[in-house]
Amino acid sequence: MLRATNLTKQYPVRGGDGVVHALNDVSLELGDGETLGIVGESGCGKSTLAKLLVRLEDPTSGRVELDGVDLTGLRGRALRAQRRRIQMLFQDPYSSLNPRQRVGSTLREVLAVHRLGGDARGRERRVAELLELVGLGAQLADRYPHELSGGQRQRVGIARALAVEPSVLLLDEPVSALDVSVRAEIMNLLVNLRDELGLSYVFISHDVAMVRHISDRVAVMYLGRVVELGDWKPVLDSPEHPYTSALCAAVPVPNPELAQPIQATVIGEVPDPANPPAGCPFHPRCPRAEDVCRQTDPPLLELRPRHAVACHVAARTAVSQ
Ligand code: SF4
Ligand code: MG
Repeated sequence: MLRATNLTKQYPVRGGDGVVHALNDVSLELGDGETLGIVGESGCGKSTLAKLLVRLEDPTSGRVELDGVDLTGLRGRALRAQRRRIQMLFQDPYSSLNPRQRVGSTLREVLAVHRLGGDARGRERRVAELLELVGLGAQLADRYPHELSGGQRQRVGIARALAVEPSVLLLDEPVSALDVSVRAEIMNLLVNLRDELGLSYVFISHDVAMVRHISDRVAVMYLGRVVELGDWKPVLDSPEHPYTSALCAAVPVPNPELAQPIQATVIGEVPDPANPPAGCPFHPRCPRAEDVCRQTDPPLLELRPRHAVACHVAARTAVSQ
């Protein structure tokens, strides 16, 4: 349904020449009703990928297609119609809602802009329905965001995304800003809504445990590339890429802003994306690096059906088995 092909995004370096390679030749597919988890450290290109998928930004090269329609070529009304079908839910429910607008008014406005829900009374009904769908009472329509808890605010965010009847939700760290105690509730709500409404999700997180909980397939990203891709169980339980192994072994951190690079003391810092290492971008931190890794960038290869890995050593091991 949603397909990204060879997506590349470069930004000019602030106050210098040269470019940051935020995203490097990323190709992904999302099937009907499927959840694709995207996991990696802060700065790996996850959020850039999300912005390209919802067309908040244009790629430097590559394409995004929704049901065969190339979104990258669309403008104006045609773009708006397609974009409605992919909604984004942000990490921070505090900053994504207008503090001076009551919840009901926020939702009615979305319906009005998209000409959904019929007349004023129809929209009123639809607002109540949406609030109920996300487990909130209709009486919450009269509240302002500051009168709600973090979990309630994120539920309102979900209701707002669902108001336009999308087929794909892009969830960028949707529970990371919430109290630990409400994270499971929101995760369960997302799973139930997906199954009930037949939605497809792209679930972006630095937290392997969250990705494991919700995903059918997982893409592991490092320095703007997909380094491992496949069904969640083989990828996360028996990873082939040394970076995935390190990520799965790292202690989870509750807030991505506070996240330390994985095993920073053991295998060094994340390299500067404006100045990525030659060869395999992971080689300065990789415990298995060999000479070839310093010279040649490994392609993402399917080592077995539905499990692709970008690593020289993993590829050689798979061939010799
Ligand atoms: Fe490590 Fe080499 Fe594999 Fe890169 S290609 S992950 S450096 S073993
Ligand atoms: Mg991010």
